[in-house]
Amino acid sequence: MREYDLFIAGGGVGGSTAAKFAARGGLKTLFVEKCKTPRKKPCSGIQFKYLERILGEKIPRQRLCRHQIRLIRMCFHDGTSFYGAFPMLNYMRDTFDQWLNTVAQENGAEFRDECEFLDFEEDANGVTVTVRQAGKDPEKLRARYAVDATGLDSQPMRRKLRPGDFSGQASTGGGINYYIEGKARLLPFALYQFWNLEYSDAMFAWLYNKTLSDGRDYWVAGTAALSGDVRERQEAFYEYVRKRFDLRGEIAEREEYFISMDMKSKDRVWLGQGRILMVGDSAGLMDGVRGVGQDAAALSGRFAAQAILESDRKGTRALDEYARLAALITEQTRRNQEREIDRFATNEELKAYIKGNLISTGVKMVAQSLLNRFRPPERIRLLPP
Ligand SMILES: Cc1cc2nc3c(=O)[nH]c(=O)nc-3n(C[C@H](O)[C@H](O)[C@H](O)COP(=O)(O)OP(=O)(O)OC[C@H]3O[C@@H](n4cnc5c(N)ncnc54)[C@H](O)[C@@H]3O)c2cc1C
Repeated sequence: MREYDLFIAGGGVGGSTAAKFAARGGLKTLFVEKCKTPRKKPCSGIQFKYLERILGEKIPRQRLCRHQIRLIRMCFHDGTSFYGAFPMLNYMRDTFDQWLNTVAQENGAEFRDECEFLDFEEDANGVTVTVRQAGKDPEKLRARYAVDATGLDSQPMRRKLRPGDFSGQASTGGGINYYIEGKARLLPFALYQFWNLEYSDAMFAWLYNKTLSDGRDYWVAGTAALSGDVRERQEAFYEYVRKRFDLRGEIAEREEYFISMDMKSKDRVWLGQGRILMVGDSAGLMDGVRGVGQDAAALSGRFAAQAILESDRKGTRALDEYARLAALITEQTRRNQEREIDRFATNEELKAYIKGNLISTGVKMVAQSLLNRFRPPERIRLLPP
């Protein structure tokens, strides 16, 4: 049986970041991804620039979309909108995650794609995992620690250890993107956010420009929902933006993602048990109030690797080190869960809330993003604060 210090399931942002920092710290690390890479991932692929500091890497220009985000336009149900200048990264997750996979390998991690994590057994000294490489028989591996970075479905770890997190009916939501090839009265460097409960009760519906792997630019219109029929919401939203922005063209691609984890559960944020550390979405760190999750996935991945290295050095429990390092982001996610926008009964209430907080949020955003440039990566504050 092959032996490792660390086994990581999932080759997304969380898994690749954990793999990079673990391998760089000298841990014999294997990370596996069930899909063939580059794999598509339904995601808007927009992030704050501090992500590069968390990753400890500058993202190569060719991995980014042609148009980076420079402007945010917040649109409301009554046709009014506010603008704000704010630079953000814009990329497609297939291109980006594949690059992150190579970064982790360059730092010494072993990577297998088309390799599914199937099962595990934990004991006092480590974890025995079963994986299956496409076209081969299942194989058992042994590791001192395991990191689960398999995303919101967390298969098999969280489903096996905490089946109750998936049984409720509370979260029937998901996310949908339409990629439209055509013309529109839209700025290609702007992120349009639509704060309207009819289109999304999870956050905002979105519209922006994306460069796909065919090298062509597309308009992406999408939404996410925690309840109700997300497809109906998306159709209503698409009709609205087509008229409002004279968006003409064919839908070249439809992307759908359904959430099986109960996003409303009070203890959604869960960092693991024993020698198993959960990172990113599988730890429940996707945050609808902030509207993003890749930064939390990357940071928690980095923390998980650091926690194992520190526990080896100090003789402490890795999970305790992890909980200490991740305290700020777990607290922020838990706090934000109570502020999710489905608490508003009407669009007027939602708009009044956003308008009332606009200046203070704007000032905090600018101040915290400036401070983030100087903070050590472990102390970076996830935005919006
Ligand atoms: C519609 C939508 C739009 C979003 N837009 C944004 C955005 O603009 N900005 C942002 O920051 N966040 C956004 N998010 C959230 C973001 O996508 C997630 O928070 C982020 O991808 C979490 O990273 P992760 O590494 O935890 O999980 P993932 O990125 O989901 O990666 C998990 C990986 O594990 C693999 N896997 C799963 N099971 C197994 C298994 N058994 N064995 C091996 N591999 C397995 C999967 O194939 C996948 O590659 C969006 C989410 C959705 C649904």
